[in-house]
Amino acid sequence: MYRRCRVCEGELREFVDLGRQPTANGFLRPEETDGEYFFRLAAGICTDCAMAQLLDEVPQERRYHGGYRYHASGSAGHRKHFEENALRLLETELTGPDPFIVEIGCNDGVMLSTIARAGVRHLGVEPSTNVAELARARGVDVLTEFFDERTAAGIRSRHGAADVVFGANTICHIAHVASLLRGVDALLAPGGVFVFEEPYLGTITERTAFDQIYDEHVFYFSVTSVRAMAERHGFELVDAERIPLHGGEIRYTLARPGARVPSHAVRELLAEERERGLSDLAALGRFRDRVERVRKDLVTLLRDLRAQGKRVVGYGAPGKSTTVTNYCGIGPDLVPFVCDSTPSKQGHLVPGSHLPVLPPEAFSDPYPDYALLFAWNHADEIMAKERAFRQRGGRWILYVPEVRIV
Ligand SMILES: [Zn+2]
Repeated sequence: MYRRCRVCEGELREFVDLGRQPTANGFLRPEETDGEYFFRLAAGICTDCAMAQLLDEVPQERRYHGGYRYHASGSAGHRKHFEENALRLLETELTGPDPFIVEIGCNDGVMLSTIARAGVRHLGVEPSTNVAELARARGVDVLTEFFDERTAAGIRSRHGAADVVFGANTICHIAHVASLLRGVDALLAPGGVFVFEEPYLGTITERTAFDQIYDEHVFYFSVTSVRAMAERHGFELVDAERIPLHGGEIRYTLARPGARVPSHAVRELLAEERERGLSDLAALGRFRDRVERVRKDLVTLLRDLRAQGKRVVGYGAPGKSTTVTNYCGIGPDLVPFVCDSTPSKQGHLVPGSHLPVLPPEAFSDPYPDYALLFAWNHADEIMAKERAFRQRGGRWILYVPEVRIV
């Protein structure tokens, strides 16, 4: 267990314990449940630099491999977001005579495919071989490696300096953050930027979105902690922008000190975090109380519905569903199955809680009385698509920020 901060070696104080959990994306076949891997999912905050992080850690080889099941292109909203991201970088940062962009954890090429179509030099660094293949099929150049100092030095000597190093929902996954930042330092051109967008501690605590906490998310960034981390590694935080992805994230821009004028948004968000006491143990203790309340309310509701003979199924099996079902002890006795459109999850079980994952057609065959919406960050997209379920009297169960039926 970590007692010292991975960024600054400061003291870590635990603020939430979500119990014994498997790896969130370790979907398994019914015959593979023997010897399933579990660890204690608990998060703490550094009393020096305010970086929130996991106390126990799953080795990265166990998290990213040939069977990695998160496909970034799975949602239309995500595809649009990353296409806009790519177009913006092409317009604002990749404007020199022969620009070069490196993406850390390019997944299935959802962002870089737009860059590739524009004919701009690029390289995705992606350790999970199966999603890397999908990226290659989209015309994206991929290096199948973990990004660290050594990988970065190799890229620099083969391709030259990068104008942009980009990451989306990957930087918070990387425990060896010092090596990562030394790598970015080695790779980035003098006027280059390191742009990354990641889940926001402020959103997680404000919305009681405790299901954002799982093995892959080693860090839970805030503007305060990212600024401290940047300064420690010779960078300056020059912009921070709230974006709606995954329920509310922040896009951070780091540059070399003095290279850019920091935006007002950085100052405003820092002030807002101070005012909220975002990193204070008292505020984080109130978050933990709300998390426990959600567990109690959700389990009580599901047991009541079962007692009334109502049928409840799960909708969507994102990594988040692993945290919720294992923390709350929700098994097939309460939710007999969950539907998900990702083919590689179908026929498998949600890790730990072992809810069977069925294809989307199972949802309407026949419609259940209630649907527990695990993919709540896509609630609008899903509810619009499943209008017929509501019209036939079906109801949605949501648990973020609190348990309610809509
Ligand atoms: Zn620290």
